[in-house]
Order: sequence, then C-alpha cells, then structure tokens
Amino acid sequence: MMLQSPSEIDIVRAAASKINSVDFDNLSFGNTFTDHMLICDYKEGKWQKPIIKPYEPFLIDPSAKVFHYGQAIFEGMKAYKDENNDVWLFRPDQNLDRFNKSAVRMAMPEVPEDIFIGGLKTIVDLERDWVKKGIGNTLYIRPFMIAIGSGVIAQPSTQYRFMIILSPARSYYSGEVKVIIAEHYSRAANGGIGAAKAAGNYSAQFYPQKLAQEQGFQQIIWTDDATHTKLEEAGTMNVFFRINDTLYTAPTSERILDGVTRKSLIDLAKREGIKVEERSVLVDELVAAAKDGSLKEIFGAGTAAVVNPIVGFQYKEHYYELPKLESSYALELKDKLTKIQYKQAEDTFGWTVKI
Ligand SMILES: *Cc1c(COP(=O)(O)O)cnc(C)c1O
Repeated sequence: MMLQSPSEIDIVRAAASKINSVDFDNLSFGNTFTDHMLICDYKEGKWQKPIIKPYEPFLIDPSAKVFHYGQAIFEGMKAYKDENNDVWLFRPDQNLDRFNKSAVRMAMPEVPEDIFIGGLKTIVDLERDWVKKGIGNTLYIRPFMIAIGSGVIAQPSTQYRFMIILSPARSYYSGEVKVIIAEHYSRAANGGIGAAKAAGNYSAQFYPQKLAQEQGFQQIIWTDDATHTKLEEAGTMNVFFRINDTLYTAPTSERILDGVTRKSLIDLAKREGIKVEERSVLVDELVAAAKDGSLKEIFGAGTAAVVNPIVGFQYKEHYYELPKLESSYALELKDKLTKIQYKQAEDTFGWTVKI
C-alpha cells in the first residue's frame, strides 16, 4: 500500500522536545504523549486543513455534543521500528476502514484517506525518535473524533474534531488473567453500536468490569445479549478458544468488533496449518470441553497486548482452570505476528507499511 501525504498540512513545531525527560524503560501504558498532535476540524460540511502542533489541552464549549450525547469514536494502532531504524505501520488501511464505519454508525462525517493516512504518516514521521527499536517497544497511535458543535439539543453535531495523539509504550506482562463469563450484563446488542469503536461501548463496560474485579477476575467474557449462551469477546479484545487442536472464534457481527489482530491471527494460523473455525462457541461447549480436558487455551486478541492468554474461567460459581501447555498457539501466533510487525520475518501478506 502506498501512503500519500495530505496536499497541505500545517506543522507548528514544539519549541523543545520532552523526549529526554521520558524513561522509556518504565512507561505505564497510555500516560506519556509525544511532542505533537494532529488536529483537523470539520465544519460547514467540509474538512478543514489539518494542523500538527505541540501537544496541549484545548478549549471546547461546555455544551459540546460529545459531553452530552457521546458522539466519540477512536482507533488503536501501533508503529514499530526495525533494526535499520525504519518505522512501520501495520495494516493502517484496516483502521481507516473501521474508523469510517464507526463514523457512519455514530452519524459522524467520514474522514478522507489523505487526512487519516496522510496525517498518520506525517505525524509518525515527525515523531520517529519516539519509536524505539526492539520487540516490545512501540508507539501506540490513537486517532479519534469528537463532536465539538455546541448546543444541548439532542441531535448530531455539525462540527467535529479529528485528532491523532501518540503514546510510546512497552509491552508488559499482564499477570495471570482469570475471566468470568457474563450471565447478566452485555457489551453489545443486535442493532446497537457494538461493531463501532465508540467511546460509549467502553464506558458501558466499566461497571460490570468493576464488579468482576471485585470478585477477583481481570476480565469478562461477553456473551450474546439475548441468551447469554454464545461466547463473544473478552473484555475489549476478540477471543479465541482452542479445543483439541482447532481454534475457534466467533464470526464478526453487529455485536462483535472486527479486530485487525483477530483477522491477522486467523490468516497466520491457517498459514501455519492450524485449523481455524469462525463460529460461535457455546458456553455449554466450553464447560464440557474444560471438564473432559479438550479445552487447551483461551486467549484475547487486540492491538494493545497482541494476545492475552487466559488461565481459567468462572461460570455459575465454578472455576475451571486451563492446562499449562508446553507449546501454546497463543504464544506461537503472537511470536509470528510480532516478527512480521518488526520486520524480522517476511511479510508474505503485505500487511506492513513503511513510513
Ligand atoms: C479494539 C477492539 C478489539 C481489537 O481490535 P484490534 O483491531 O485487534 O486492536 C476487539 N474488541 C473490541 C471491543 C475492541 O474495541
């Protein structure tokens, strides 16, 4: 894929970089930001000229629609540096595509490719020193859009702000992840906004997640809202189950987000000769497989952690522990995907894009 730069983009450089004050070995995820941010406003039916300027707070009217009606969407992606100091993005076209699907669902304007991809290219290039070499070091990229038009009348805004902010990150060990299967709360419903990367999907999860944490579980495995019998996502990640030597993951739908990691892992697993089935796994099937020993692995898949292995699950007051494996699909696939992202393995899929 070719990246184009927007024909016009203003750049106002920060007077001094804060990079030397950052301890890159001890980053807590999502709390450190680079020197610049990209802003592009939409008004009077048109996208304005994007600007890259020093990272700083900005003013919005207290009646802005984002505060009252939650018109807010985002993406999560990463930049990687290889051993030659080249910087790479991973399947950014997929993020653009999903971002604009989210925009349509939230009655927000779509962001043109030259602003989204061109803006990404320009700002990541400007901040390339913030991308550190070595597996585990990444620059987390957060494109987002909010409704900034004022007025508390409940209707879509006529003004929006698209932004890109960047946060250096290190992969971390999340500790043992135990999950609980949702029996009451739901992440998404048919006809709802579950397939959009909308801010509201996250705030709606915080309370059930807090309850799960109080019971000693790090994450919730979401089930379908109508019957709570089909396994759908793990927290804010897609979820895979390995029963015997087959990997199962639910097909994407109105309730299940179309994860870039998910689809990349499916392609990689197939290439490695691992059998993958895209179909819903029932809670009963999972419990039966745990009981008869055919359940080998459960893992979440998403950009932030790539894969997140799960050590056990709770369902109806019973805790089922997963076996400790010598060779896990989760770690094998994570290794294969990570090596492609860092250009340590050949990218036969054409997923990586040089900045
Ligand atoms: C972002 C997200 C994912 C993972 O998507 P990736 O593109 O792999 O990062 C999965 N589920 C939900 C609900 C998400 O918001």
